[in-house]
Amino acid sequence: MKTIQQALPAKKTIALVAHDGKKHALELWCSKHLNILSQHTLYGTGTTGHLIEKRTGLPVHKLLSGPLGGDQQLGALIAEHEIHLLIFFWDPLASQPHDPDVKALLRLAAVWNIPVACNESSADMLLSSPLMNSQMPREMPDYQGYLAQRLTI
Ligand code: PGA
Repeated sequence: MKTIQQALPAKKTIALVAHDGKKHALELWCSKHLNILSQHTLYGTGTTGHLIEKRTGLPVHKLLSGPLGGDQQLGALIAEHEIHLLIFFWDPLASQPHDPDVKALLRLAAVWNIPVACNESSADMLLSSPLMNSQMPREMPDYQGYLAQRLTI
């Protein structure tokens, strides 16, 4: 598929999600990075978002709880280019009733080529990048080209 360049903005919209076994770790991580996170816009799935707000005082746009559709809402926002970075502490040691939604969320993040961190070390590296506070060049699918091609089938 053809791609186009569309930069991610300097002020980013960051999605925060953690499975139950990783929620405490994400709360601590957010507290550690309070200063940087406060310079961006935050979204979260329902429970994760509430816990982060309570722990850090940072405002979080809270979607539905993950198992009830929150992961799918985040995926839709990624496809609409509203979310620029995904911090998703998924739990590799627990099975999830909404596993298909989790997979779909990670898939859309890959499709639209946004930075993703699935554990604390990767999340630390992402946030320490100079690109956090500047525009970041990003290749993404050329949707208009894709559509034009589909319409000739
Ligand atoms: P939650 O959803 O923040 O509502 O717990 C996260 C998830 O499990 O996807």
